[in-house]
Amino acid sequence: MSHVLQRSSASLPVAVGGDGCYLVDATGKRYLDASGGAAVSCLGHGHPRIVAAIQAQVASLAYAHTGFFTNEPMERLADLLIADAPAGLDKVYFVSGGSEASEAALKLARQYFVEIGEPQRRHFIARRQSYHGNTLGALAVGGNEWRRRQFAPLLIETHHIAPCYAYRDRRDDESEEAYGRRVADELEAKILELGPETVIGFIAEPVVGATAGALTAVPGYFKRIREICDRYGVLLILDEVMCGMGRTGTLHASEQEGVAPDIMMIAKGLGGGYQPIGAMLASAKVIAAIEAGSGAFQHGHTYLGHATACAAALAVQQTIREERLLDAVRARGQDLAQALDERFGNHAHIGDIRGRGLFMGLELVEDRATKRPFDPALKLHARIKAEAMARGLMCYPMGGTIDGRQGDHVLLAPPYIITPEEIGELADKLGAAVDAAFAGLPSATTS
Ligand code: PMP
Repeated sequence: MSHVLQRSSASLPVAVGGDGCYLVDATGKRYLDASGGAAVSCLGHGHPRIVAAIQAQVASLAYAHTGFFTNEPMERLADLLIADAPAGLDKVYFVSGGSEASEAALKLARQYFVEIGEPQRRHFIARRQSYHGNTLGALAVGGNEWRRRQFAPLLIETHHIAPCYAYRDRRDDESEEAYGRRVADELEAKILELGPETVIGFIAEPVVGATAGALTAVPGYFKRIREICDRYGVLLILDEVMCGMGRTGTLHASEQEGVAPDIMMIAKGLGGGYQPIGAMLASAKVIAAIEAGSGAFQHGHTYLGHATACAAALAVQQTIREERLLDAVRARGQDLAQALDERFGNHAHIGDIRGRGLFMGLELVEDRATKRPFDPALKLHARIKAEAMARGLMCYPMGGTIDGRQGDHVLLAPPYIITPEEIGELADKLGAAVDAAFAGLPSATTS
């Protein structure tokens, strides 16, 4: 019997190794990692350069508390990240993962307004069907009902507006531009309802990952959001934990929206899973106000700027740049989109194929015309995951009608080093897994 509390660990295969885009279990079975775990493993597994960087760092300095020392890999990684950061971002705060980055962002934003003499600013606005982490603060801003439900009384009060979800919400008589403006304007309405002088920030993922399956916004939506934030002095906080660090074909997903945030969170692809690491990047404006006020960000964790984690992330980021892997993400992203289109474009139950770069999602529907989702009790996403694992494929399915409307979906986020042949294998195995999952369902047909 397993003493590990993590969900169903007793029934899962035991991972013992990996190379390139594959993980290997204790029986020797190989799994094509088509989701990078949860969009983490951007360089795949067992990458010799990253392994060597970690070994060298552990041998010289594994860890030194940042209350006493700075360390070289942390300083070098910060320089690298700021050199390529969206305009205005000037400082990096290194933590151990995405939720910690979100917590830091929320607290920094609040402290900023206290420092500039606006302590009445206390509200955060986010979007329904969003996820920004599982710690209490991050969970509070997220708008994903099933993750929040049991903890609601403990969560700080936050406010939610509609996501930008054209597949479901754009009216037939509405252009993409008009739709984007309509949903972005919900932010302005919410700010006015709460009182602009009480709002701290708006938080959103540029491309929505875990709660919506690589959902991109319509063109112009984020520009409008930025304008509204500026009009009311509200901070724009972009969560690039999943969609950032090259996943969508540019280093930051927000680049493709033509906006720069005041605060940004990154994690998964930062260290590629070789070490637990995340970071919050903050604008010079926010940091200057804090430095001119009480002097320092009032926050901290034991493992801030962990030397080994920073050394791993530095090696990952150098590899992405030196091997021009963003070009690879764009090229292989096109291959993946084409392979998915060929395999699923006419599938009776794939309502939408979406995404950007090597960040793609399939939304499953019972009926393509009405976009009606499958009954959540069927647990279609879990069936697909099980069928995929049986065939040696890892994909990241989420499901069962989020907020009572969205269909199950499958998220794909393979390593940036995936080859065209491996994309072919991915599409074949996913096609077979989806067909097998549908085969047992009473109301479905396969195509
Ligand atoms: N934000 C987003 C957008 C995420 O996808 C996740 C993780 N899935 C988090 C925050 C939380 O990150 P972590 O699990 O590393 O705490």
